[in-house]
Amino acid sequence: MGWCAACGTKSTKENKTSVFPKDPDRRIQWIAAVRALDKPDWNPTKDSVLCEVCFIVFKYYIL
Ligand SMILES: [Zn+2]
Repeated sequence: MGWCAACGTKSTKENKTSVFPKDPDRRIQWIAAVRALDKPDWNPTKDSVLCEVCFIVFKYYIL
């Protein structure tokens, strides 16, 4: 539970969120993608999540 790191949407039962990947390479790519969204100093915490919509967008553009 939390707020999407990219768009700020609160996670709910209807809007599922995903935690950041554990794999270091993918994790770096996700962090870079969030930073590109006008958050240059952003760093994930252990509670950082992405909503379903951003997850899909990121997957398209990054992975
Ligand atoms: Zn989002």
